[in-house]
Amino acid sequence: VLEIAGLEKRFGDTVVLKNINLKVREGELVFVIGPSGSGKSTMLRCCNRLEEPTSGAILVEDAKITDIARRDLDKMRMKVGMVFQGFHLYPHMSVLRNVMLAQIKALKRPKDEAETRARDMLERVGLSEKADAMPSDLSGGQQQRVAIARALALDPKVMLFDEPTSALDPELVGSVLKVMKDLRREGMTMLVVSHEMAFAREAADRVIFMDGGLVVEHGSPEQIFGDPQTDRLKAFLSRVS
Ligand code: ATP
Ligand code: MG
Repeated sequence: VLEIAGLEKRFGDTVVLKNINLKVREGELVFVIGPSGSGKSTMLRCCNRLEEPTSGAILVEDAKITDIARRDLDKMRMKVGMVFQGFHLYPHMSVLRNVMLAQIKALKRPKDEAETRARDMLERVGLSEKADAMPSDLSGGQQQRVAIARALALDPKVMLFDEPTSALDPELVGSVLKVMKDLRREGMTMLVVSHEMAFAREAADRVIFMDGGLVVEHGSPEQIFGDPQTDRLKAFLSRVS
């Protein structure tokens, strides 16, 4: 569903991503780990052109998103759902309106259809009863689940998660991870940057370890966590666990 080929990204003279190659197949959950500054967020942001790749190609369902004209980016971005550390909900709009808005503005969905879809997605993340609440009345974990519902409402082909739980209090992390596990069971294709190693062991199909803008190791959770090959990965794992 998602293919990254020969991706390189430079900021001025600084090379942040060096020849990244990665395929995420239909229904797979691929997990990305690595130290701070290794390029994880930049790689995700290149996948919906929040960052412009310096070279290389990114394909979503065989559409070459690296070739899409700037003015057509919005349409492409809906195919690639993105959930960040912060939730970026509109504070002056109800939860329901937050989930409806992009459907109406970007997908040009009729309002009643958008509302039905929004309510379905809120139910999927376990928040049906919060439709009329304001974002500020929700916990961080609930707000993050609204952000997930909002992305899902646009029918993405792949979901990108950039440290979706790292801003949350520990007791709220589980509810967000559960939604991600449910999505995986339902067959959603996902690329996830996270420090939740226990979750990776449990839910990831494959794990990628990045360091210094390179994919240093790539394998099953058992291989990556149980049998790391490089000193860099061994050092990283001993720091985080
Ligand atoms: P973290 O775990 O801290 O989130 P990360 O792996 O997501 O780190 P990135 O945010 O992708 O790392 O950053 C990779 C490198 O690119 C860092 O050295 C960072 O300073 C640099 N970088 C990121 N964005 C820019 C930018 N807009 N301009 C210049 N350098 C940048
Ligand atoms: Mg990051």
